[in-house]
Amino acid sequence: MLGAGYAGLTCFLELQDRLPQGHQLVLVSRDRFHWFTTELHTYAAGHEADAVRIPLKRLVAPPGRLIIDHVSGLHPAQRQVELKLSGSLEYDLLVFALGSEPEYFGLPGIPEHALTIGSPHAAREVRERVLALTDRDNYTGHVLIVGGGLTGVELAAELADEYPRKLRVTLLEAAPEIMGGFHPDLVKVARQILERKGIRIITGSPIVTADQYQVALKDGGEIAYDLLVWAGGVRGHSLLAEAGLELGGRGRARVDEFLRSVSDDRIYVIGDSASFINAASGREIPPTGQAAVQMGRAAADNILRRLTGRPERPFVFRMRGQFASLGPHEGVGMLGQEGLVGLPAMTIKHFIEGLHAWEVGGGVMPLVRKLLAAPVNYLRGRRLRARRRPYRELREPSP
Ligand SMILES: Cc1cc2nc3c(=O)[nH]c(=O)nc-3n(C[C@H](O)[C@H](O)[C@H](O)COP(=O)(O)OP(=O)(O)OC[C@H]3O[C@@H](n4cnc5c(N)ncnc54)[C@H](O)[C@@H]3O)c2cc1C
Repeated sequence: MLGAGYAGLTCFLELQDRLPQGHQLVLVSRDRFHWFTTELHTYAAGHEADAVRIPLKRLVAPPGRLIIDHVSGLHPAQRQVELKLSGSLEYDLLVFALGSEPEYFGLPGIPEHALTIGSPHAAREVRERVLALTDRDNYTGHVLIVGGGLTGVELAAELADEYPRKLRVTLLEAAPEIMGGFHPDLVKVARQILERKGIRIITGSPIVTADQYQVALKDGGEIAYDLLVWAGGVRGHSLLAEAGLELGGRGRARVDEFLRSVSDDRIYVIGDSASFINAASGREIPPTGQAAVQMGRAAADNILRRLTGRPERPFVFRMRGQFASLGPHEGVGMLGQEGLVGLPAMTIKHFIEGLHAWEVGGGVMPLVRKLLAAPVNYLRGRRLRARRRPYRELREPSP
């Protein structure tokens, strides 16, 4: 098992519990922790690391075995993976769950000058830059976040709430609107909340290049920044292409209905690195935490079936909902067709996050803490808003 994120750890834990005797199970992770990637924006904004990670040592037990190392190569023909420190490792079946890398769309200057928050290491860099920027006396730093999807929106809101007097935040989106995939009424509410936090939102403005001080826009405009964060998209892990596996959209490995690489049925690819076509829509399912967890469970089930001589089952993705936190005190979301704002949205988002921590073995306390945090944060937010500015028009939107 390569990778201990949402997809890899879910798959590993299912196998660890149910693996028939006589098989070995190895988890390779470059990090000693399972990080809740969907909450990395809070860490980037200065919150405690331990609120968004669990030590893997606590979760791994025989027959499972943990190797902390960096995967540096994959050789399907030899059924081997290369590890930076421990040499090579052979496998009979492999699960590739190394997540994603930033997709820069070939835009010059962005990889050199922008930071990202897709991994703990990247989020730590943003965190350090933010702390340095907000430490300066009589200076308001300007953070420019490129990409108005979930990642960009959640980071913008968190930074604006955490450093209201120390940072100016701009959210730049190439598409005509932020939060693609959300119901337009919810986007409208989210926009109002973000703008009330002082976030400047610019849409329909693709970036063409960046240098050390500013980005240039397609319409000829320029925006200067102190810190540039790229949240404009992700692609499959580069090791997939290097290994020669057939790729689908954005460098993700094309997988069959059982989540196996179409180039090699001994390699299951799950999570952000998989290009899985949803039979219902005929389109690739977008990379999300919920897809990663569902794929992790399905791949484990198929591996167990395969090891015990039973037919594998096709993976079916079920979209359960979509939630976005807008700082610690606000949120919006969709549960099925139902649009939710404020406390209900925050409660469900917190519940999903806490449930994941509980399910992977982090104990019941993170779930309890999360559920208690939702009303406390919501009420704190209401008090803050009442003190700062009137906010009545946003309280009871009906998406
Ligand atoms: C700030 C932010 C907010 C988000 N919010 C949401 C949300 O609200 N809802 C939602 O559904 N999705 C959200 N997402 C997307 C979601 O986090 C991803 O889709 C999900 O994490 C993908 O899971 P994964 O297991 O494929 O990858 P990851 O969770 O990224 O795990 C990959 C693992 O592989 C390890 N790894 C990578 N390379 C190597 C290597 N070479 N050697 C060893 N180990 C390696 C990594 O350390 C990591 O542990 C958000 C993402 C971000 C960044």
